[in-house]
Amino acid sequence: MVYRYRTNYDLRCLTTSPDPRLLSDATNGLSMWMIAVLGIAYFTLPPAQIMVLISFVTVSMLVMAITNFFYIPAGGIETIPYVFRWLNSMGIFIALAYIFRGIGIRQKEQAFTDALTGVLNRFALHQILDQEMERSARFHQPFSVALFDMDHFKNINDTYGHLEGDAVLAALSKLIRKNIRTVDYVGRWGGEEFLLVMPETDKNAARYIAERLRRQISENNFGKANKITASFGVTTYELGQSLEKTLFRMDNALYQAKEKGRDLVVVL
Ligand code: GH3
Ligand code: MG
Ligand code: MG
Repeated sequence: MVYRYRTNYDLRCLTTSPDPRLLSDATNGLSMWMIAVLGIAYFTLPPAQIMVLISFVTVSMLVMAITNFFYIPAGGIETIPYVFRWLNSMGIFIALAYIFRGIGIRQKEQAFTDALTGVLNRFALHQILDQEMERSARFHQPFSVALFDMDHFKNINDTYGHLEGDAVLAALSKLIRKNIRTVDYVGRWGGEEFLLVMPETDKNAARYIAERLRRQISENNFGKANKITASFGVTTYELGQSLEKTLFRMDNALYQAKEKGRDLVVVL
């Protein structure tokens, strides 16, 4: 009597190479582990290493799917679902990786953004200043900063109310973002003070940019509050100097612009 091997178990007994389907049985549990691993990685690893982990797991799952695929001739039609199990797990893993990445990007954006105006916050500005200082030292390129403060902003709050004052700050930020160069950074330094960081920009170019922005603000119509002006203090980071010195000079320039009658750019 000829004994015919038909069941999965029999097939496994027959073959000398390890049966990838044995591993396949674990894929459901494996998916849960992957979610856990991804979660832990998200909180502990830097983004570059997370990308390596994601690539590694994705490729591993793809290899398992392909291995199962080649097993189909030996294992028969019953092997096909195993291929899909691996592909499913891979799909879930990739989707989760992208969700985690999206959350990470959004959280980072929020951490660097001023809630009222949508421009960078002070924390982000400090990071950019540090980064520009490093770049300046490495490439021997200057960079400039402009601090500008709304003139008589207290009057706006007193006349139209604090909410209208907030709306003016939001509209102003929109105007600034629309008009600065794409390479420049703008953020809220304090209440109604904004800082513009201009990479690879010398004093003359910075003066020109600040002057243009000053004019654009003074020509804009801010709704109820109508016309508003700003005073600018501009300076350039000098190589080898401390950042504090640069910021101090910038503050001084702004102070002088206020003293000289406002709606002015002073460069020091
Ligand atoms: P100056 O021309 O000397 O700068 O006059 P100023 O009135 O703008 O200066 P001051 O520093 O005396 O006042 C700043 C005002 O800006 C006071 C404060 O109520 C207002 N301000 C600061 N932050 C905000 C904010 O987030 N929203 C609103 N609505 N007002 C703010
Ligand atoms: Mg002011
Ligand atoms: Mg102020």
